Amino acid sequence: METISIIVPCYNEEESIPLFYTTTKAELQKIEGVNYEFIFVNDGSTDQSIHELKLLALQDTNCHYISFSRNFGKESAMFAGLQKATGEYCVIMDADLQHPPTLLKEMYQVLKYENYDCAAGKRMDRTGEGGLRSFLSKQFYKVISRLTKMDMSDGSGDFRMMRRVMVDAILQMKEYNRYMKGIFSFVGFDTKWIEFHNVERVAGQTKWSLKSLFSYAFEGIVSFSTKPLLFAGIVGTILLAISTILGMSIIIRLCLSQVISSSFYLLTLLVFLSSLQMIFVSILGQYVSKDYLENKKRPIYIIKESDL
Ligand code: UDP
Ligand code: MG
Repeated sequence: METISIIVPCYNEEESIPLFYTTTKAELQKIEGVNYEFIFVNDGSTDQSIHELKLLALQDTNCHYISFSRNFGKESAMFAGLQKATGEYCVIMDADLQHPPTLLKEMYQVLKYENYDCAAGKRMDRTGEGGLRSFLSKQFYKVISRLTKMDMSDGSGDFRMMRRVMVDAILQMKEYNRYMKGIFSFVGFDTKWIEFHNVERVAGQTKWSLKSLFSYAFEGIVSFSTKPLLFAGIVGTILLAISTILGMSIIIRLCLSQVISSSFYLLTLLVFLSSLQMIFVSILGQYVSKDYLENKKRPIYIIKESDL
């Protein structure tokens, strides 16, 4: 019998865990002909989450837990969970029931009968979220999708069911700074989007502050794009053009025997030298970024099928 592995990163989720388990298990039992396993990853919780997880492991032999020595972040928790999952299908879900377990059956059917490799949840709205946060998030996804030329649309989260091939591909991405949305997009595979309405978390609080969202956004951009480095080059080129115009005006005025103030010479020289600096910084950046990407040791290609 095939198995569906449910991977659940948990950081201070003592109140959500029991409810999450019963609700999700009930939905899994509606899917005929499959086994399930839960891999809970306790990401350095400071509350009683670990006790809840140990209780579940005692009650149900299909429940397992991994407990980190400290808080490593959701990205690390997802990676650890995927490494330990044994199922042919793996799902990543939040512990707070913001990822509706009712979608599991549909996701499974999409993979089983429609030949997709991944069925991913897409949140259609952001009700219950602060206005500023929701506005900034939307802008961020627009910017990052343009910069990286990858589909990282707003609302596409980590909630998804994947086939084993895709999970194995993700596990090949050994980079230390992990940005999962970028990784999902990088590994490819056929994904079907399943839309759902946003629900508020059942208990506890969100672990994201505006500050952590900013650093997450920054991580996403620099992990998958070296384009910001080109900005220096663009600014440098504009400055070079300005200094050329200034230089030409000096030559013309000299030909017309006009007097030119020394500060005008200085200004022209300053703009010219700054433009050279910016351009060289950008070129240097390109070399450094090559090394940066090499260091990630990402797979050069990912095979979906082969008869070799
Ligand atoms: N989480 C985690 N480690 C962290 C932060 C969050 O494992 O450092 C888990 C958290 O327990 C939850 C999921 O990641 O299961 C999503 O977190 P949260 O609900 O706070 O994010 P939001 O839904 O507000 O974006
Ligand atoms: Mg949540």
